[in-house]
Amino acid sequence: METTLRGVGVSHGVALGQVRHMGTAVLEPPAKSVPAGEAPREQARARRAVEAVAADLTARGNLAGGEAQQVLEAQALMAADPELLADVDRRIAVGSTAERAVYDAFASYRALLAGAGEYLAGRVADLDDVRNRIVARLLGVPMPGVPDSDEPYVLVARDLAPADTALLDPSLVLAFVTEEGGPTSHSAILARALGVPAVVALPGAVELPEGALVGVDGSTGEVVLEPGAERRAELERAASERRASLGTATGPGATSDGHRVPLLANIGGPADVAAAVAAGAEGVGLFRTEFLFLDDQAAAPSQDRQTEVYRQVLEAFPQGKVVVRVLDAGADKPLAFLTPSDEPNPALGVRGLRSLLEHPGVLATQLRALARAADGLPVHLEVMAPMVADRADAKAFADACRAAGLRAKFGAMVEIPSAALRARSILAEVEFVSLGTNDLAQYTFAADRQVGALARLQDPWQPALLDLVALCAQAASTDDRGCGVCGEAASDPLLACVLVGLGVTSLSMGAGSIAHVRAALAKATLAQCRRAAEAARAADSAPGARRAAQGVLSGE
Ligand code: PEP
Ligand code: MG
Repeated sequence: METTLRGVGVSHGVALGQVRHMGTAVLEPPAKSVPAGEAPREQARARRAVEAVAADLTARGNLAGGEAQQVLEAQALMAADPELLADVDRRIAVGSTAERAVYDAFASYRALLAGAGEYLAGRVADLDDVRNRIVARLLGVPMPGVPDSDEPYVLVARDLAPADTALLDPSLVLAFVTEEGGPTSHSAILARALGVPAVVALPGAVELPEGALVGVDGSTGEVVLEPGAERRAELERAASERRASLGTATGPGATSDGHRVPLLANIGGPADVAAAVAAGAEGVGLFRTEFLFLDDQAAAPSQDRQTEVYRQVLEAFPQGKVVVRVLDAGADKPLAFLTPSDEPNPALGVRGLRSLLEHPGVLATQLRALARAADGLPVHLEVMAPMVADRADAKAFADACRAAGLRAKFGAMVEIPSAALRARSILAEVEFVSLGTNDLAQYTFAADRQVGALARLQDPWQPALLDLVALCAQAASTDDRGCGVCGEAASDPLLACVLVGLGVTSLSMGAGSIAHVRAALAKATLAQCRRAAEAARAADSAPGARRAAQGVLSGE
């Protein structure tokens, strides 16, 4: 019987296929005790397993190359972490078996990571995977891993770890469905990079029967178990239309009647540049520089190091635009040397620009590094600040840019409702605005973006969010200023058309979404986009807004 389950859609598109589960995780090893005399042997056994797993992860990384290699190397480092190993040794010395000691030592490390903000919490799946590999080796059972299948399938897992996904054959994966994870989990990031639909945080995902037919809609977050004939036909039609439309549009982003909308890429560093260039990105609309700062929690990277990394990115887009966001630390991305550890409510605390204004030296170093990196390059550098609340914030940022001798356009991210409401006064200080719809949704609805249970309120189709986008875009157009969107909203092809109809002037998204957004825009006129925007704003709910826009754009 057809059953519809609902999770959180994190990568757009529709797929229909059979469920294949990820190799099951290793079970909890029994808490047996070993006699004291055997402890040295157990400790040696644990060490050998750890070394073998670290070597295996490194070898897989060499095979995979690119960004996957960095992730796998980070996992190899986790496996061989000296503090973790010392903890394992201690546990064995007081009577644990090697496998139990590894299991327990990782559990305490896991708790630390899970409580350390969204980005680090997102690495919990990586840590679990390392633990499972070591425990499986010690128990002599098969490694957890991707299904062995020659037929395309829908990959279902509790959460996905990079060690497995790195060796995944992308031509066989129709979609991802996970029980856990959020918009920043590896499952979501990888699905977007591969351009396959994905639904995360789906209750009961791990209980989906192996081999069952499921339809996955990565836009609505729906997973239809055993869809009936009518629903199947609908899903197949949507999937094939999406595939067919991909080849129809090439080149710069534009509506069917030629209204230009530059399509830009969101990147986290030089490793993401190749995919952005391959997808035909016209530049970068959001360079999240904080990844560079997350490596070392004790201090900011030196000006030289920053210059080198920024230059690598700027050189990749010789004639294009690159919008660099200065460090966005705090809340879900805490940095030990910047973020207060005792904030009662970090999302409403000293984060983003607020944090930089309290540490002007960190901001000045970053701006100087950017100025040096752009020196002599023809690139159009734009620099923007995260979490700008009002005109005073915008002025403080523009002053800092000028003081650093930066020859670039300065801008403000609009992520706080106050900034959307008073965009004109912010634009008196800076030259452009860019809507960060992820945070703007969080603050508009008072709904923490890390809480999967509040996904309904974080939906960028919420008409109240669309109202704020419209206000901001109108303010920018009055002054003939750019108003981009760089939050996840821009990566939804249908919503991208609505955003253009609301007056947004550029769209920035993960590389995997660019072709889909380009194709959707190429099918609609600007007038249709405007009508779709009006219809969406007239709705009372996110699903209602989506349906209304769909109706207009499909000519119903
Ligand atoms: C946003 O908030 O929409 C945004 C683009 O910034 P981040 O997701 O990095 O907070
Ligand atoms: Mg943000």
